[in-house]
Amino acid sequence: MDKVLDFLTFNRVKFHNLSLRGRVVMSQLPLSATMLVLFIGTIIFHAPLLAEPLFRLSLLTGVVLLLACFAIPWDRLPYPSFLIIPLLDFIPIGLMREGAGDVLTGIGMLAVFPVIWLAASGQFPRLSVLVGAVATLLMVWIPVFASGDPVNLAALTGPILIPFMMLAIGITVHVMTASMMEQQRVVESKDAELRGLLEASGRRERLLKTVVDTVDVGVLAIDENGNDVLMNRRQHQIHRIGVPNGLADAAEADLVLFTDGGSLPLPAEARPAVRAIRGETFSDFLIWIGQPPQQRVLSTSAQSMSDSTGRREGSVLAFNDVTDLVSALNAKDDFLSNVSHELRTPLTSIHGYAELLTMTDDLPPNVIAGLDVIRRNSDQLLKIVNDLLNTATGYAELQPARADLARLIHQAVAAAEPRAAVAKIQILINTPAKLDVECDPGRIRQVLDNLLSNAIKYSSSGATVKVHGSAQNGTVRCQVVDNGMGMNAADSKDVFARFFRSSAARKSAIPGLGLGLALSKDIIERHGGTLTCTSTLGEGSAFTFTLPANS
Ligand code: ADP
Repeated sequence: MDKVLDFLTFNRVKFHNLSLRGRVVMSQLPLSATMLVLFIGTIIFHAPLLAEPLFRLSLLTGVVLLLACFAIPWDRLPYPSFLIIPLLDFIPIGLMREGAGDVLTGIGMLAVFPVIWLAASGQFPRLSVLVGAVATLLMVWIPVFASGDPVNLAALTGPILIPFMMLAIGITVHVMTASMMEQQRVVESKDAELRGLLEASGRRERLLKTVVDTVDVGVLAIDENGNDVLMNRRQHQIHRIGVPNGLADAAEADLVLFTDGGSLPLPAEARPAVRAIRGETFSDFLIWIGQPPQQRVLSTSAQSMSDSTGRREGSVLAFNDVTDLVSALNAKDDFLSNVSHELRTPLTSIHGYAELLTMTDDLPPNVIAGLDVIRRNSDQLLKIVNDLLNTATGYAELQPARADLARLIHQAVAAAEPRAAVAKIQILINTPAKLDVECDPGRIRQVLDNLLSNAIKYSSSGATVKVHGSAQNGTVRCQVVDNGMGMNAADSKDVFARFFRSSAARKSAIPGLGLGLALSKDIIERHGGTLTCTSTLGEGSAFTFTLPANS
């Protein structure tokens, strides 16, 4: 049925898919077919008419025009040249109309075919309609003039209805064609726009895929239910490392993941994908994937995605292989620990023997002074070596005991006094008589020593260092404030990083390793407390630590 309809309606798409020659032939066919039907009808019902020369000529010109449609290479001629055919169509119609005389009436109505063709061609729209009407007028008037009869108004107006009808049909077809062409233009421009958007989106997708596959970081995008939406090439490789032994592949939930240096299995709720499905956004979360020796260390991050209404759409996870970095850091810590171990033993004996020798009686003053220098410097070196060792290996377990922070502050200040006196720095204490706290007193004393030593080291002569102690809501608090060189905002943020030294400290050539504060923060945090810093360049610094009174 569809095929029949397509044939009858000259399905638009198929018509426009034809070559120009095909379209010209198809446009001529309705007239040719109608003339063929008339010819057959004439043979059957009005055979004498076939002897009429004008009638025969009309059939001949009709055939010639149809053949011309087939034979002429319209594609190679200037575009609207084919319009000559509908114009010439008025000749066989006029001849047939005249030849048929009164035997066949209404032949003039065949002019509707070329008129529609001209009007629907879309070429020179107004002119085509006018030409169609004028050609029809000529078709009906020429016989009036050629008949030899007197030309009067009655003879001229008699057939005038046909050109008027053709004019009306031409206008109607022109209006409909124009509106259809406009619609088609809109559809085509929308189509082009959509095609452009589709192409741009395809280009973007290809670019994204290339970028995602080029980076050396595993990228995984999941929807809000945890289904994979995108996994780049690197992530496929990482995924394979975590597949349990003996399996060809595994779901994310079955991958072998560890925490804590690769020794403990990672709990299900801590798995990066599970955290991402919960909507968590995180970064630098370390996990170990796979079994040794293939095991790798990954730094994982997740960022959740929302649509324009704020509804969660899923998350993007990044898996960065930091195995080499972690190995390098471990190697550095091993190196530090070995070197400091090796240095500590001879240093301890230098320090011990220097102390022993100081106790010898009757030493000349210059020897006593020399031994004192050896003792102080070996003491200083021993502290540095201990700091290095602690940084590399971490501390032994804390040994908590009931302690009095006020007492620890007084002891630390007393120990710092000689250095403060040399630098002409005054230390003021403001603390209640007692500050009970449960802590490892040796470690807290180390923190206090470090904060006081820094306050003195980074202040100039004549400065004041204040130490405040207080207790509030189950927390004890200690603040060491100086009015020394201070730090800029960027430096104060990094001050607790290992081996960090502020730009001001480096410029002023004050010696230091940048380890004391990192160790202090570690000690305080392992007590469940906090260590913070506020500082202003050129005005001074305040370091504050808090400890839970009962940790
Ligand atoms: P060190 O003092 O051995 O360099 P620290 O870890 O104790 O190491 O301190 C790190 C850095 O922080 C110091 O090098 C210095 O730049 C800065 N700093 C620490 N305390 C102060 C302070 N009270 N005033 C100004 N800068 C300080």
